[in-house]
Amino acid sequence: DVRAAFKVDIVVIGGGQAGLSSAYHLHKLGLTPGRNYLVLDKNTGAGGAWQHRWPSLTLSTVNRIHDLPGMQFADAVDTRATEVRASSAVPQYYAAYEQKFGLPVYRPVTVKVVCARNERFRIETDRETFSARGLINATGTWETPFVPEYPGAGRFEGRQLHTRDYRTADEFTGKHVIVVGGGVSALQLLDEVSKVTSTTWVTRREPQFREGPFTPEDGRAAVALVEDRVRRGLIPGSVVSVTGIPMAPALEAARARGVLNRLPMFSEITEHGVRWADGTEQKADVILWCTGFRSSLDHLAPLQIREDNGGIVMSGKLATQVAKDPRIHLVGYGPSASTVGANRAGGAAARELAGYLGLA
Ligand code: FAD
Repeated sequence: DVRAAFKVDIVVIGGGQAGLSSAYHLHKLGLTPGRNYLVLDKNTGAGGAWQHRWPSLTLSTVNRIHDLPGMQFADAVDTRATEVRASSAVPQYYAAYEQKFGLPVYRPVTVKVVCARNERFRIETDRETFSARGLINATGTWETPFVPEYPGAGRFEGRQLHTRDYRTADEFTGKHVIVVGGGVSALQLLDEVSKVTSTTWVTRREPQFREGPFTPEDGRAAVALVEDRVRRGLIPGSVVSVTGIPMAPALEAARARGVLNRLPMFSEITEHGVRWADGTEQKADVILWCTGFRSSLDHLAPLQIREDNGGIVMSGKLATQVAKDPRIHLVGYGPSASTVGANRAGGAAARELAGYLGLA
């Protein structure tokens, strides 16, 4: 591409909770939109990954969506109507938020690859090329669904889908569905699907249900564990492996219906179902992989920030700074991979990076 790159000090990649929180804090530092910072977002509208969540995920069934800094959710959305879809309410809130603070979000712009060029980064997209002195990467995980490999997956004659592709339980009526995974999404979808058809639930590890409420102290302890991991350059690990699964009323009801009879992972997939190592088989029409997501960071590959184990050594006040290159912050990664974590981390990343670049 021979065209000159569009120059700016800081590019924020991604316009979800993490990207908007970062942009808000850059705005609060007095930086000029468009000249000092801008946000590039792949989606066609505001809302980050929330705009793609399945229709039955409502404000009453999400864990909790924390307010972004400076504007309450309730100022943009009528939160008394709890049956409102998260996929419409959160985009409505984010759109109002972007407008209120005049955040410079350019979309749809997909960042393809980021390379280091002398003292700057060259950010190639499906539209213009940008050149920046610093990066805040906030691309989340939704673009990178993870499905583990099992022998025979290609042979299966039924349907396989990931959490990301799930829309509604009704489409499985009359079919036998194997739900794979032990996280919050797996249990929500298992609950829904098991109300309309027969299911088998398999997980790698014995699920750790936690009785009693999830307190703020529990939250802080979970975050501290993940933060310690990323500071040591380890892969962050799944949220549930740290927090356990809260025993919500819907899950109590599912347990009473006999749905939570968890089986260990099968060892192979056959034409018509799955088989365990002892030869036991289960016929199935559908395998629903609720096996999570990975951080969407492939576009940063040329920057070589990963260690051999796949982890990234993080530093800075809230572990958002890439230790190998202090001009790069990751918000929404590791300890900040929650709406509340992304809020705080956006502030730390904005202040540290603006300070480092001499902008504030
Ligand atoms: P996203 O919302 O995914 O935003 C990333 C943005 O980056 C997207 O707009 C995307 O299009 C863009 N992007 C990605 N790649 C590129 C690229 N190459 N170029 C340009 N743009 C790009 N957390 C909670 O705190 N409470 C909950 O109740 C909760 N429920 C959840 C339910 C589900 C089903 C899932 C999957 C997650 C849930 N989470 C919840 C975790 C939640 O995803 C995070 O808390 C938070 O919303 C993630 O924000 P984010 O900004 O990091 O990512």
